[in-house]
Amino acid sequence: MNLAANLSTEDLQNLDTAHHLHPFTDYAALAKEGSRVITKADGCYLWDSNGNRYLDGMAGLWCMQVGYGRHEIADAVHRQMLELPYYNTFFKTTHPPAVALSQKLAELTPEGLDHVFFAGSGSEANDTVMRMVRYYWARAGKPEKQVIIGRKFGYHGSTVAAAAMGGMGGMHEQAGMIPGVHHITPPYWFDIGRAQGMSPEEFGRAAAHELEKAIDEIGEDKVAAFIAEPIQGAGGVIIPPESYWPEVKRILAERDILFIADEVICGFGRTGEWFGSDYYGLKPDLMPMAKGMSSGYLPISAVMVSGKVLEHLVGEGGEFYHGYTYSGHPASCAAALANIEILQREKIVERVKSVAAPALQKAWFALEDHPLVGEARMVGLVGALELVPDKSDMSKRFAPVGEIGTLCRDISFRNGLVMRAVRDAMIISPPLVISEDEIAELARLVRKTLDDTHAELKSRGMVA
Ligand SMILES: *Cc1c(COP(=O)(O)O)cnc(C)c1O
Repeated sequence: MNLAANLSTEDLQNLDTAHHLHPFTDYAALAKEGSRVITKADGCYLWDSNGNRYLDGMAGLWCMQVGYGRHEIADAVHRQMLELPYYNTFFKTTHPPAVALSQKLAELTPEGLDHVFFAGSGSEANDTVMRMVRYYWARAGKPEKQVIIGRKFGYHGSTVAAAAMGGMGGMHEQAGMIPGVHHITPPYWFDIGRAQGMSPEEFGRAAAHELEKAIDEIGEDKVAAFIAEPIQGAGGVIIPPESYWPEVKRILAERDILFIADEVICGFGRTGEWFGSDYYGLKPDLMPMAKGMSSGYLPISAVMVSGKVLEHLVGEGGEFYHGYTYSGHPASCAAALANIEILQREKIVERVKSVAAPALQKAWFALEDHPLVGEARMVGLVGALELVPDKSDMSKRFAPVGEIGTLCRDISFRNGLVMRAVRDAMIISPPLVISEDEIAELARLVRKTLDDTHAELKSRGMVA
């Protein structure tokens, strides 16, 4: 049945290079090295086609909350596929899984978010957000409110609208920028605030004030919304100083703009609360989410919509011309429902807060004694280590940016641990079900990886 299962690793790699264009990939480099072929997974572990085992420190792509190999999800999807594999939710139609998931999400998400628009990915959810925000202001009689303020290093996805709202310069250069989007400084103390000689608390407030300044410069009558991840994930796990969100909340309360909390990574337990908005006490008007919503078992995303936004979406009638063939796909809804059922039944979010996060954080912060680690940061089960060449002079960074991070990531794979590198920060975001033994194993592998990286840099004369 599965043709590729009988092929050798080399055959798979050759065919992959011949026909498969990967996301976010340097095609020439990949063709030279060949892809790593992942063939199976269980719990928090992955196996490749050569039989190597990896501890998945990235939960797939920040999405595998409940761990691999969950029969309940597979069974729920199987049943749904036989009952009703597909039907759309256009034209006044619905189906039981979409109804049940809508109700469940309204119950789980912060108070005031009781309506949901389904899509297939985080990027589609954020495209939906941009369209909804502009439609909202048009219907509110303020069509000139068009500008969306995002942040540098923000990540909201890879469609044109999502890439534009995100703050990745490389993506903007490759036709990912559109008019009407403005970016402000992120609350990235280690990289920005420290260099300016500010304490984290001072810098948190200064970064928040950038929002106020941007609204004033652009004109409040032209600004539609501010979009932000509670903790910036793909931008490097940028955990804002304590002073940041309270100050942003004050500014939002004083200004007539919408607030979009992109919960695609923070949502579904990553911080030890159900949502990053719960963790920081945020009150979003719109809340896109995806990834952990189905633990990645099937693609699905959603935008939670507040009563305030709903008022103008409904208005005096008139159609919102927006939707996807797979909005509320029945099998994906079944996967999300089964995933949420597991999260609730096994009290996984509570366990992150009381057991897993304290254990991983203790091990993580202990890595700050390593000669390569300039800062260790973590909230819940998402964290970063900033690699630096010389801890006696923290203003020094590796050049070119990202090369040593990538080296360390490759060494990590060799050691049987999936870590990700963003610039020269090493990122971790393991499955929420990671056990205490696996946490100890993860910490041991990270330290070994740092030691191996340090030895390699020493041999190159790049560190003392
Ligand atoms: C991954 C991500 C997205 C995009 O989700 P896709 O499913 O890859 O389209 C959007 N926002 C955040 C915060 C993300 O981490």
